[in-house]
Amino acid sequence: MRVDVNTGLLAGVKQVLSPYFDARPAGVTPDLVVLHGISLPPGEFGGPWIARLFTGNLPAGAHPEFAERAGLRVSAHVLVRRDGELVQFVSFGERAWHAGKSVWQGREACNDYSIGIECEGTDEIPYEPAQYAALNELLGLLLGAYPAITRERIVGHSDVAPGRKTDPGPSFDWSRLRA
Ligand SMILES: [Zn+2]
Repeated sequence: MRVDVNTGLLAGVKQVLSPYFDARPAGVTPDLVVLHGISLPPGEFGGPWIARLFTGNLPAGAHPEFAERAGLRVSAHVLVRRDGELVQFVSFGERAWHAGKSVWQGREACNDYSIGIECEGTDEIPYEPAQYAALNELLGLLLGAYPAITRERIVGHSDVAPGRKTDPGPSFDWSRLRA
């Protein structure tokens, strides 16, 4: 696995193109990583639904929880599945739509300047060792490819949208991210 900074793509990783992205503001390169947690239906793992959500193909009638989510236009750069598999939806050079209304150290609109990584999980259920392993490998590559991202600039959605978002949640063990 490696990051191609020209294309913003992860070589050696499954790519599923999301329509939910646009250009970063001119001259902006990523200098923040926002980690998220997601599961669909909530609390269930392994289905196709997260990818379906990020590609605009979530069927509203397939589950009671889907109706309110089916029209959302959301994405992330990368999803880390429970078994550690990575799926890339948006080039790191483009702006994925993951953080929503957000602010970090006084700077608003974190989507403009961040890379969004979704971990399949919930606020309560511990994330898997395979997910930390995959995350650490990915973060190592991202820190190398985008030097403005430092260890201190890897944060949770709950850090940039406090009071509105809780993910990746207390179940995420930050001490397992490599220094
Ligand atoms: Zn989130």
